[in-house]
Formats: sequence, structure tokens, C-alpha cells
Amino acid sequence: MASLVLDNISKVYDNKVTAVSNFHLQVEDEEFIVFVGPSGCGKSTTLRMIAGLEEISGGDFFVDGKRMNDVTPKERDIAMVFQNYALYPHMTVYENMAFGLKLRKVPKKEIDRRVNEAAAILGLESYLKRKPKALSGGQRQRVALGRAIVRDAKIFLMDEPLSNLDSKLRVQMRAEIAKLHQRLKTTTIYVTHDQTEAMTMASRIVIMKDGVVQQIGTPKEVYEEP
Ligand code: ADP
Ligand code: ADP
Repeated sequence: MASLVLDNISKVYDNKVTAVSNFHLQVEDEEFIVFVGPSGCGKSTTLRMIAGLEEISGGDFFVDGKRMNDVTPKERDIAMVFQNYALYPHMTVYENMAFGLKLRKVPKKEIDRRVNEAAAILGLESYLKRKPKALSGGQRQRVALGRAIVRDAKIFLMDEPLSNLDSKLRVQMRAEIAKLHQRLKTTTIYVTHDQTEAMTMASRIVIMKDGVVQQIGTPKEVYEEP
């Protein structure tokens, strides 16, 4: 859990493309914020600035009141879930989930506890010894979620995590992620171009266009006629 402040952040890339312009948003503890908007509107750039993977060109970013602009990605208490899963193909499900913790020198026993707990939450107990290629798309996406869960991070960033799944599985995983959020209450920022995902999952929705925030509100405020 964490509160975030994007204080008028902007991103101008080296080629002078302004990808994000004066993005202002205050995210409360436990919120599930969804960024929606067409391809190229600056959603991923904003996520990457929050993760520290992209330098902020203007403005400030705070987590729980602490300015984060110059904090390295490793030192940010953030776990990311990507569209393409980014699983390591030569590692088992267990090893995939354990890897980030090993790098962080978490004791073996603690790794074991966290991986087994995440596997139980995600229904992956009987798949721990498999390699990713022996899993279905939904199972792979669960492993990617598992990797984020074991980190025990204050913030989750999810960049179109369901867009590679077929529509039936997408609906199912949407519900699973919502349940996961109810359980863990981790402050989440979720990127999608799917309005239905935004409407069913978000505490608040941010609609972006051409790097500019068009609207911020609850699903009701954003999508229902007044
Ligand atoms: P979205 O995630 O909404 O699809 P992006 O944040 O990826 O949008 O991109 C926003 C804008 O920034 C686009 O015009 C894109 O072409 C540009 N852009 C993204 N990454 C880079 C980069 N590394 N260098 C230059 N321009 C980029
Ligand atoms: P895992 O992929 O299992 O989460 P790590 O968290 O150690 O393993 O990530 C591997 C690499 O990806 C590291 O170089 C790390 O800096 C980078 N990385 C992972 N998560 C983030 C994040 N949220 N923000 C920035 N970089 C990250």
C-alpha cells in the first residue's frame, strides 16, 4: 500500500516527441487506477516514469511523500507485470517466481514461503516444476502475476497484462486480478485500451489522449451520462 503523487510530470524524448504533458494525479492507498486511451497516448511512458525506467523531463513524482525522481528502479518498491509475461523460458515456474527475490538476497526459507503462498493464491501449486512452454496462456499470465506478488511491493504496475489472452480468458483473469487486489490491497496502476476492463476494475479511470489527461473519475463519472 502506498499513496502516489504525479505532480505535473512530463516526458519529452530525445527526438523532441512530447509523450506526456503535465500529468497531474494523486493516488490514494489501495486504489486501483486504470489508464485508458489509444495507442501512442503516453500510457506506457507514464508507467515507465513511475517505475524509474524512464527519466522524468519535468515535474515531480512522490511515493508516500518522498520525492522519487532520482531513485533507481531497484530501490523503488514497485513490481511490474507486462503484456508479454517476460518469463524466463529455461526456468521452472518456481524459479521464475523466486528469481527476483534471489537477486535481492532474500533468505531461501522466506523465498520458499512467499512462492508457495503466491502459488496457492493463483492456483499454481501443481505447476511449480513446469517450464513456461508447458503452460497455457492464462497460466503463464498467473506466473507473471506471481512474480509481482512475491516481491511484496507497495505498488503494482500492470501494462496491458491481459491483451495477449483470448476474450474468454480475459474476462476470467480480469475477475482474478480484481479479487487479488481485494485481498492484497496493493496500490495498482493498470494500463489498457479496453474500456470494459477499465469500467469493471478501476477505482478511478484516467483517460489520456496525445499525452494529455482528458478526464479523471470513477467509472460511473467517466462513462455514464449525467
Ligand atoms: P501508449 O503506451 O499509450 O501506447 P507510449 O507511451 O508508448 O504510448 O508512447 C507515447 C508517445 O511517445 C508516442 O508518440 C510514441 O511514439 C513516443 N515514444 C514512446 N517511446 C519512445 C522513445 N523511446 N523514443 C521516442 N519516442 C517514444
Ligand atoms: P523479476 O523479473 O523476477 O521481477 P527483478 O525484479 O530482479 O526480477 O528484475 C529483473 C530486472 O528488471 C532488474 O534489472 C530490475 O532492475 C528490472 N526491474 C524489475 N522490476 C522493475 C521495476 N518495477 N521497475 C524497474 N525495473 C525493474
